[in-house]
Amino acid sequence: MTDSIIIETQPVEHDIAPSPASANLVIVAPAKNGHGSTKRIAHVLSALYDDAQENLDDEPNFTIWSKETNLDRLQDTTMKLDPCRLSTTSDGKDDSSLILCSGSIQNSMKSCDGVEELAVDQAENIVISASETEVNSSTIETDMSQADKNIRQEWLGTTPFAIEDRIDIQRAGHLDDLIYYQQTIYDNIRETPYDPAHWIDLCQCCLTLGFADIAAAAAHKGLILIKASLGRDYGCEGIVYPSNLKILTKTAVSEKLHTHSPAIVEEELKSLLLICYSGLLSSLLACGTFWEGLRAAKEALSIFPMDMDLLETRDMLRDCFYERQNSLKAKAADNFDESLTLMTRVGKIYQMQYPWMDRRLNDRTPALVRELNDNLNSQICEIKPIILRPHRESFDVGPLGIFALRDIEEGESVLVDKCITNTTDLHPKAQTYCDACHSSLLAPYILPTQIVRPECCEDVVFCSQDCCSTATSGYHRVLCGKDWSWIYGRNGRPKSTGLAPDPMWRVRLFLRMVAVYLADIQSTKTKVHPLQHSLFGRMSANYSPPSYPDFPLTRDWYYYENIGAPTRILMTLGINPFTDPHWTPEVIQTIFWKMENNANMSKINLSTTTPPSSNSPQRENSTGEEIVTSINTNYLFLNHSCEPNISWRGPSSTPFVSTDLLEGINSEIIKPGSATIICRARQKIKKGEELKISYIGDPMGTSNNKQWEGGRQERRRWLSKWFEGGCGCSICTKEAEEVKAMAAAKSKP
Ligand SMILES: [Zn+2]
Ligand SMILES: [Zn+2]
Ligand SMILES: [Zn+2]
Repeated sequence: MTDSIIIETQPVEHDIAPSPASANLVIVAPAKNGHGSTKRIAHVLSALYDDAQENLDDEPNFTIWSKETNLDRLQDTTMKLDPCRLSTTSDGKDDSSLILCSGSIQNSMKSCDGVEELAVDQAENIVISASETEVNSSTIETDMSQADKNIRQEWLGTTPFAIEDRIDIQRAGHLDDLIYYQQTIYDNIRETPYDPAHWIDLCQCCLTLGFADIAAAAAHKGLILIKASLGRDYGCEGIVYPSNLKILTKTAVSEKLHTHSPAIVEEELKSLLLICYSGLLSSLLACGTFWEGLRAAKEALSIFPMDMDLLETRDMLRDCFYERQNSLKAKAADNFDESLTLMTRVGKIYQMQYPWMDRRLNDRTPALVRELNDNLNSQICEIKPIILRPHRESFDVGPLGIFALRDIEEGESVLVDKCITNTTDLHPKAQTYCDACHSSLLAPYILPTQIVRPECCEDVVFCSQDCCSTATSGYHRVLCGKDWSWIYGRNGRPKSTGLAPDPMWRVRLFLRMVAVYLADIQSTKTKVHPLQHSLFGRMSANYSPPSYPDFPLTRDWYYYENIGAPTRILMTLGINPFTDPHWTPEVIQTIFWKMENNANMSKINLSTTTPPSSNSPQRENSTGEEIVTSINTNYLFLNHSCEPNISWRGPSSTPFVSTDLLEGINSEIIKPGSATIICRARQKIKKGEELKISYIGDPMGTSNNKQWEGGRQERRRWLSKWFEGGCGCSICTKEAEEVKAMAAAKSKP
């Protein structure tokens, strides 16, 4: 089709969930003709505005996408549209043309000056207007059943709100255009990564596609660029990488505007700053991080106190925040504690593979499995694909497990999984644990003379020469000399009391994992993509299969933890988040999903026997308790069974540990507090059998464990995170049969 204006009405469902863009009209205008089309759009907008005011229940509110539209000029011509959202973004496609709008608006468009060439298509089929929704709902439903068979679930987005908007986009056949548009933006970013406008484009596009987490990340990068060039602090306290970010951004903007005037560039940057904030706030609203959204709104309003759009989004964020807080308060009655405060602040998104990301990045190939076994280096067990079939070299082998290489006796140690990929909520400067393996460095577990201090700095100490050289020739080399104290800070969160897991653990673990990875690729001089490196490649994320029209459970998401902190970490480590194709927000979030599915968390308390020594800095955590989180890189391959043949023991959690529980494979004693996991055979295991542990403690729920008060039933519910209808063990199979029989009996009259 020809160059045309695309109008799409989006009824806003304020009472269900705020639509991210808060627009009841989205106008996509290819605007190939430069000035001419700007004028034309202005005409159409004026007419539309008048018409919409008469016909819509809500105040008209427009979103405009247009490639070359000059925002300021458009705003001038259409003053009365203020406070409508006017944002110019790129479409750049010639044949995209669909008009979806109510009959009356459509008519006024036709009668509007300069729009005779409008192509009208499918308007009869999908006519939605705010006032006519009810009348047309039956027609829409019949269309739906036909169209929904073709819904591409992977493109429904991570945003749990306003999913209908994305379904509508697909039904209307707009998805491919949006995907194309997104690709164009990525191309633009590759070309001029320091032009904040591209990041704003990406934010808007990802918002429309429903991937508000990626939208927030794009807005975040836009903000970093703009703030750096305007000389404002952007939350990274002086960490600027690349170091000439200010110049790079200003150059990109002045080249785009063909001007050398600093005043014009500054003006442009200021207007971009406003749009960028607006995109960020909408993204945070759509991710459900209302509290963080309010913090960002406060910052934005301190610069643009009178901006109506910002004020409106701020109000929405506030309403949503209080609504959630009140409902939590009502449920909790008198027990409103830190964990509930945290729940008022956490965002929620769907865990999804980003459909535009190369799927092969998540593949675990036969070559990777060989590498994993070289790493494991065991005579007792091996890592193998669970599904037996011929595996092609470049293909994903599917889920992995650990299998016995020989007959194993009851009680035998089968796997002692030491790991340096661990972290704690206690600052390393406390010097009460080994920075590498997390063994306790307190008496009586170790003599003060045995503690090893590295030559490079005084920030960390180790339990042994071995740990010291592992660290200083590896991950610590990457981290040494940089200030990481902020990842132990609270960042506006209530202090963790152990009731709620401290969400910063993800950030700390991410830092350690990235450092291990960077040290490895630096020493091997390879450029392997993080997701294909054995460190991250070995971990799988627990994606639920797409199941539209049912949606998976949402997962915790924070702007600070998932976007702000990782970006800051990468910039501190000298990774350029604007240009490095390895460290996109999609990759970072994928790593977060993987960590979440594979991390072990244990509360330990080994410090009660000794007071902190006088020459070590004061302990931040005076209770002596810490939460150790670790990725045990081999243990993570052990699958679950309710009839496990392996028992395991993590970091010892109390001062009273029988050494015989800490015995390693060669009878060496594992130091208390270490993040090592020790696995033993619970029974005789035959060669070739899969080694399995229980993910749910005592699988039958017969012991008195407070965490599992619901007994077997609660354990089964927990298991459903990984398995639908049980784990496949004989207990689960029997239970599933009973459930089936009960259901059959019920359905009989
Ligand atoms: Zn150690
Ligand atoms: Zn050092
Ligand atoms: Zn089971």
